[in-house]
Amino acid sequence: MKDRKELEVLFHKHGYTDFKWVESGEVVVSQWVRTKCMFGCGNYGHNATCPPNVPSVAEVRQLFAEYCAVVIFHFAHTVDKPEDRHAWTRGVNQELLKLERALFLAGHYKAFLLCCDSCYLCTDCSETRGTCKNPRSARPSPESMAIDVFATVHKVGFPIEVLTEYSQAMNRYAFLLVE
Ligand code: SF4
Repeated sequence: MKDRKELEVLFHKHGYTDFKWVESGEVVVSQWVRTKCMFGCGNYGHNATCPPNVPSVAEVRQLFAEYCAVVIFHFAHTVDKPEDRHAWTRGVNQELLKLERALFLAGHYKAFLLCCDSCYLCTDCSETRGTCKNPRSARPSPESMAIDVFATVHKVGFPIEVLTEYSQAMNRYAFLLVE
């Protein structure tokens, strides 16, 4: 991999300053995360980037073993209602996709983005991979890939906590896998 400082110049060029590097082996992948997707989340089976439309937990572990580094991008935001977050993350993720593309064009052909929310590029998701309306841009979230986001970001000192009031700022994270 090119010097990380070189990549950070690219991140800054795209307007990102709040990020941290972790080794891919430091990312915590857990079966309990997948279980919570299956039991307790309304997106299960209803978003083409969420389980069961994603790799198994074992396959995710294999995926991370094929990368050497991960960049975690931090985004903080407050919304009036929980569902309002999707309009915000749609814009955030569209910009992140441009960065993933820039890395690819810079020679990091394995660059792969995990968006900071389930895909909400469309207002009415097709719900399956085969029928996805924008398959070139749809990416899974870290949670849908069984990543324990709380445990992983705490390792590098990023803030995250269970929120009890809508007035509290969300701390959301996107993960960019790079070679
Ligand atoms: S691009 Fe549209 S159809 Fe595909 S996963 Fe995203 S919201 Fe669903």
